[in-house]
Amino acid sequence: MNLILPKQIFSKVMRAVVEFDMIQDGDKILIGLSGGKDSLLLSYALATLKQRTQKKFSLAAVTINPNFDDNFKSNAENLKNFCADLKIPYQIEDVDIFSAIQACNKNPCFTCAYFRRAAINRIANEIGANKVAYAHHLDDAVETFFMSLLYSGQLTVFTPKTFLSRTNITVIRPLVYLREYQVKNFAKEKNFAVVKSPCPFDGNTNRQNTKNLIAELGKSFPDLFEHLAAAMRESSIGELWSAPKTQAEMRQIYFSYVNKNLSL
Ligand code: SF4
Repeated sequence: MNLILPKQIFSKVMRAVVEFDMIQDGDKILIGLSGGKDSLLLSYALATLKQRTQKKFSLAAVTINPNFDDNFKSNAENLKNFCADLKIPYQIEDVDIFSAIQACNKNPCFTCAYFRRAAINRIANEIGANKVAYAHHLDDAVETFFMSLLYSGQLTVFTPKTFLSRTNITVIRPLVYLREYQVKNFAKEKNFAVVKSPCPFDGNTNRQNTKNLIAELGKSFPDLFEHLAAAMRESSIGELWSAPKTQAEMRQIYFSYVNKNLSL
């Protein structure tokens, strides 16, 4: 099959791959294929790069069945054909994330992401993949960045390329420059058979709340999304307060103001 990406998608994927030097000769890249539009596009895009660039790398894909829904496996059946068309070896892996969420009593998305990542890293090690590719796009990155501020008082964001020393795996996110609407449009144009998320929490998460908030604020601040995206860069950091002092440091300075033997 002759694979072609529209110019505006190809150029953004190439920008991320080149800027963060994501692919080397000899790489084996395991794709986290949930069956949503994002991961379908990621698989298609990486298969296209394999066909159209001179890098020599191989691909594999895995879908995690989180045990949210008995019909998931039959619904995901078309992913096997999708990958076969792209010549990507494919497997589906059962991981009982639903029970883990019930047992943990923590934020369901935190538990879910933890178990998914652990399973995908394990499978990457088992099949000899040195890289794992996820389908996060620019909207995901901006939402994560804003969420970190809203929910934890920190400024953090996932990085386009990260080496995980414990598992010896490099995580890459080749779609980080794509906007969600571009992914949606392409999935529609290609008539991708998207697997509906079986997640009972879908649409009712901190991420969804943050997405809604950015959309709402965007009505009053039309450049908000672009400003948030620009602020994710290290080079954009303006002047911030210094890190808080330790108790010992505070005590030392405190007694330069106040005589130890006197109380105020
Ligand atoms: S929305 Fe559902 S599938 Fe997505 S991370 Fe949260 S629990 Fe997992």
